[in-house]
Amino acid sequence: MKIGVLALQGDFAEHIAILHHMEVDTGEVRLPSQLDELDGLIIPGGESTTIGKLATTFDMIEPLRQFSHNRPIWGTCAGAIFLSCGAKRQQPLLNLMDITIERNAFGRQVNSFEIDLIIPALEDPELPFRALFIRAPLIERVGEDVEVLARLPEDSQRAGRVVAAQQGHLLATSFHPELTDDKRFHRYFLSLVKGLEDHDPSLRLA
Ligand code: GLN
Repeated sequence: MKIGVLALQGDFAEHIAILHHMEVDTGEVRLPSQLDELDGLIIPGGESTTIGKLATTFDMIEPLRQFSHNRPIWGTCAGAIFLSCGAKRQQPLLNLMDITIERNAFGRQVNSFEIDLIIPALEDPELPFRALFIRAPLIERVGEDVEVLARLPEDSQRAGRVVAAQQGHLLATSFHPELTDDKRFHRYFLSLVKGLEDHDPSLRLA
């Protein structure tokens, strides 16, 4: 199994480091031909407008859409924005996930924060997942085919709002699992790639 990380801009190195640590074959992706050998792709956090513009320049938009037809993609933060079909402003998007995003929903860089989330889809679901939000987006709307994986806790700002979602083999998180030691979200993505996810047979790859 080989998992690529889109390396146009942002914190791709952190995802690569975690995958190395998990002994998963990985590589940086900047060109369409580099998608061929992959079983799944992670789009990192960073700045979604920049990622979208560079993806346009490198002729990556259509190849990424093709890739998504039968292989999992996970977007973290800016990557989640890029996967979405709406960010309420003009910027290049993949239009793959039926979610609408509110960018910078918690304010500026200085308003970054960490919070414990309960994420039932992960292993040891009762164990909170420490989530880092850095100029983070909210998933403002989810379409009918989108499953909510995590919401902000009741005692937090923007309580109850969606911060992780899944549509078949597409995943979006507002936060950055690559910046913590907890590898459960990466393992969850790998389980989608392996097609072992048995709570929903439609997640299996052809
Ligand atoms: N604020 C960035 C954007 O809107 C996302 C921030 C991040 O990826 N940490 O693209």
